[in-house]
Amino acid sequence: MLMEKERNLVVEYGKKLITENLTDGTGGNISIYDPETGLMAISPSGMDYFIIQPEDIVIMNLDGEIVEGSRKPSSEKDLHIEMYKNKPGITAAVHTHSMFCTTLACLGMPIYSVHYVLADAATDVVPVTPYVTYGTKDLALAAVEAMGDAKATILANHGFISVGKNIGDAFGIARECEWVAQIQWRTMCVGKPNILSREEMERVMIKFQTHGQVKEKK
Ligand code: 13P
Ligand code: ZN
Repeated sequence: MLMEKERNLVVEYGKKLITENLTDGTGGNISIYDPETGLMAISPSGMDYFIIQPEDIVIMNLDGEIVEGSRKPSSEKDLHIEMYKNKPGITAAVHTHSMFCTTLACLGMPIYSVHYVLADAATDVVPVTPYVTYGTKDLALAAVEAMGDAKATILANHGFISVGKNIGDAFGIARECEWVAQIQWRTMCVGKPNILSREEMERVMIKFQTHGQVKEKK
């Protein structure tokens, strides 16, 4: 079976989408890309995240062809493929319908730097991709364009997508963005949130590069 490690990770992180309240039902999807083989492991379309097994994950190339797997791949395969085609160093993508990002999505409102942890998404503002029908190449191209150098975008009237250097990174950004979107919504319910400047967010982005424990060299 091709991409066994990646298949297992897609299954594991799919369940986390539900347990960490980042999506509802079978909404959202996950993929992992291997730049060496040019292959992507992506979640199957419309399947319960707690039923999905490693053999249900679909292996595709970036031409959109199925290389291995009997399931129908996620309807957002182009959204994932275009991320890998256009964003160097990106090997994972997480699409969610999380409550607060989707609330902002339905207002057509970006996530602002109401809290410094937004720097995780490599930007001071998570931009909004204009509304395009789900599961289309047009949505994929619009998301890439809106995202620019950021690692996330709100999808208008739909949800959210983040990308990362690995699945832990992409998933972590989805979680942080959902948290900041919630803080933004809560502060706006009460008044006008204070938004951190671009300069301050750039300072935080630099600090984040060395935040936490030093990783052991393998
Ligand atoms: P899939 O189940 O086909 O991945 O679709 C879910 C979704 O979020 C579509 O935008
Ligand atoms: Zn969706």
